[in-house]
Amino acid sequence: MSPESRTNDARKNDVPVTDDGSAHLVAASAAISELSAQHRPSDLAAARDAVVAAREADTNVIIHGGGTKLTWGARPDSTGRAWSAIDTRAMDALIHHEPGDMTAIVQAGIPLARLRAELAVAGQQLAVDPPRRGGGPTVGGAYIANDAGPLRFSYGGIRDLVIGTTTVLADGTISRSGGSVIKNVAGYDLNKLWCGSLGTLGLVVELIVRLHPLPEASRALRIPATAETASSFIADLLASPAECSVVEWTSVGGGVLLLGFEGRSDGLPARVDAVAALARRHGLSAELVDDADDDAAGDEDDTTGDDGSTTRGVLDHWREAHAGRPGDTVVRAATLPDRLGHVAAALDQAGHAAAGSSPGGADVESELHSHAGLGLHDLVLRGGDTAAQAVLVREWRRRVAALGGSVVVRERPPELDQHVDPWGQLGPARLLDLSEAVKRSVDPERRFAPGRFVGGL
Ligand SMILES: Cc1cc2nc3c(=O)[nH]c(=O)nc-3n(C[C@H](O)[C@H](O)[C@H](O)COP(=O)(O)OP(=O)(O)OC[C@H]3O[C@@H](n4cnc5c(N)ncnc54)[C@H](O)[C@@H]3O)c2cc1C
Repeated sequence: MSPESRTNDARKNDVPVTDDGSAHLVAASAAISELSAQHRPSDLAAARDAVVAAREADTNVIIHGGGTKLTWGARPDSTGRAWSAIDTRAMDALIHHEPGDMTAIVQAGIPLARLRAELAVAGQQLAVDPPRRGGGPTVGGAYIANDAGPLRFSYGGIRDLVIGTTTVLADGTISRSGGSVIKNVAGYDLNKLWCGSLGTLGLVVELIVRLHPLPEASRALRIPATAETASSFIADLLASPAECSVVEWTSVGGGVLLLGFEGRSDGLPARVDAVAALARRHGLSAELVDDADDDAAGDEDDTTGDDGSTTRGVLDHWREAHAGRPGDTVVRAATLPDRLGHVAAALDQAGHAAAGSSPGGADVESELHSHAGLGLHDLVLRGGDTAAQAVLVREWRRRVAALGGSVVVRERPPELDQHVDPWGQLGPARLLDLSEAVKRSVDPERRFAPGRFVGGL
């Protein structure tokens, strides 16, 4: 075992069990309330040692970075084994930045906010903007959870931006996929496989990421619109040559669209005007968010302390709203982008069903925050009782499924799991068979977070 891999006794000296990662581990599963070992590797060799040590000790493995998404997926089950935790936060280096090629090689535990700040010095960015609650995710954590934010509309998801990975498999094999060239078609694209696997397939140690220039300027339009009106406007917007970088909608305030624009400052006014004119043709009025102090390329301050009045501050607020507040239940629906009106109507109906279902039913508050241009809708629930929240989620899930979509519960109180399966309806049996075959081939002893993934994988 390398010096970076420590037993439980050694850990007590330098990595207290109450640090935020371990607290999240306990929240993730009753089965993980006690760890037999905790490893904090700082490089690939130590990461491999940690995985091998866990296997030799016959433990399951839970991997965590910032710990912001450990509750996503189902609660892992212990399968009768003790647990080892692998904390990725000591693997936090920007290994190499190649500005000319617009690529970077990073260790998985580097905080996304820090990477963005370092790249901003060269006027570049990793164009991924998931919510930053709780200190924000590590790059590896965002990738393994397939998390993204409003910018996914213009840059794609994180799976589109990770072009190479180095991963330690359960038996200690080091698997490399992709590389630093963007066009790379040799072999299986394992980068897509690890993305979204929630730590159930292997330990991603290094990533090669594709970068983009930081925009010179940004603008935003705020357009009051019900979900139904917003839906028909967005359909036209997507079919038009207009170039928005962000297309968001929220139910808060009776329904509001937020359209973001990024690019060269001299080109932005015409783009914004064209979209405002399109909105007027739909009977909508568009208001330009105050753009003072927003034209600053390289001004990459990844905090959310803005008062929300500038373009940047507004975009930050909208992004964070998707994660809710601590203690909220957060549920993600995925549909085609033109279903927003139906998704919101389904939520109203589900809310009525929940209101009549139990004494606390009428107290459930809901907000829908939608990446409307992508068809990704985050429902934030607070208040009421767990049973009523469960009714709402089940009813909404049933109706969204009828629209051809899916609903997955992300954040929730542990009690909700007694009423609602976080994954919901499984896909076609052949997909589950395929997923099982993948799990068998890379983790045959089921050590990595068994039970967390779809279908109990
Ligand atoms: C020298 C060179 C080096 C390259 N190196 C790389 C590299 O390292 N990495 C990388 O990712 N890419 C590389 N590429 C590019 C890559 O090879 C092509 O992008 C890829 O092969 C195109 O595949 P496609 O399926 O998109 O083809 P398409 O764009 O669909 O088609 C390509 C051409 O084939 C024709 N065609 C398609 N299907 C058929 C068919 N069934 N019957 C007859 N004609 C058909 C099309 O009409 C078109 O003319 C390289 C290309 C060249 C020329």
